Amino acid sequence: MTAQFDRIALIGIGLIGSSIAHDIKRLGLAKEVVIATRSADTLKRAEELQLGDRYKTSSAEAVKDADLVVVSVPVGASESVAKEIASSLKPGAIVTDVGSTKASVIAQMQPHMPPHVHFIPGHPLAGTEKSGPDAGFPGLFEGRWCIFTPISGTDETALKRLRQFWEALGSKVDEMDPEHHDKVLAIVSHLPHIIAYNIVGTADDLEAVTESEVIKYSASGFRDFTRLAASDPTMWRDVCLHNKDAILEMLARFSEDLAYLQRAIRWGEGDKIFDLFTRTRAIRRSIIKAGQDVDAPDFGRPHPLEKKA
Ligand code: NAP
Repeated sequence: MTAQFDRIALIGIGLIGSSIAHDIKRLGLAKEVVIATRSADTLKRAEELQLGDRYKTSSAEAVKDADLVVVSVPVGASESVAKEIASSLKPGAIVTDVGSTKASVIAQMQPHMPPHVHFIPGHPLAGTEKSGPDAGFPGLFEGRWCIFTPISGTDETALKRLRQFWEALGSKVDEMDPEHHDKVLAIVSHLPHIIAYNIVGTADDLEAVTESEVIKYSASGFRDFTRLAASDPTMWRDVCLHNKDAILEMLARFSEDLAYLQRAIRWGEGDKIFDLFTRTRAIRRSIIKAGQDVDAPDFGRPHPLEKKA
């Protein structure tokens, strides 16, 4: 593949930043990649992993002469990064981010963006519960959606170039307004994480069941929540604080629906329970049909006898 950009600057080199770096290298999407992260330790690790060509602890220095700047830091750090890079951005540069919330990131970054750059907020819907530069891997974005929430009046050529970049990484690109993005993500991603953090916290607090029992019998269902609940605390604290309204709205809906289920269980209303569980089972089938998961039992985890077969 020919290089799409002469110089790409990656600000933040955790799971998402390093996965992008792997793909840029694998696919030859840039002539040069400059990496910046705030801590010397993370930067050293990025260098050991050979994720880029040059390494900086100053984001302002890293973005100099970059045609594309990708900001991959916790959403609460967006404003400080925008302030730091603003005066060093090259005229005509595309500046994008990967933050899990969009209205807040726009509010934090846009006021600092000079008029001569194209700021296009984005969010790849791909990830794992791991963090840091070692967590990234090539192909993370393959077959996954990347949502842009462009500001009105955004240059079409810049949008097309960024779309081509994400498509080269294997993503399918969609556009929506930031408030809508935040509502959709509140239900498909933020609420499930909050519920998982909460269930795992509740189990941890239970006095009648010992910690060793929770762990010993975890494969009964609990284990699947622990993957989400092991996600990065800084990232998810920021998501909660920066998508507050949409999350609170979804939590209110969730609490009402939980009360309905609770009541059905209390009064032995088996039909209501059965109908709900039948409806939800169909959702899982739709996800598999849409290619967003594999049609293997237990999320494709290998089982002892299957391995032998
Ligand atoms: P990560 O693995 O924890 O990496 C975070 C990076 O940001 C590191 O380079 C870290 O630098 C830097 N950073 C942390 N706090 C900072 C601060 N206050 N100021 C400046 N830099 C800071 O995180 P990630 O999973 O890649 O997530 C990055 C962004 O992607 C987040 O906005 C998240 O919402 C979004 N996202 C995540 C996922 C996911 O599944 N993880 C999926 C889609 C989008 P040091 O190590 O040098 O401190």
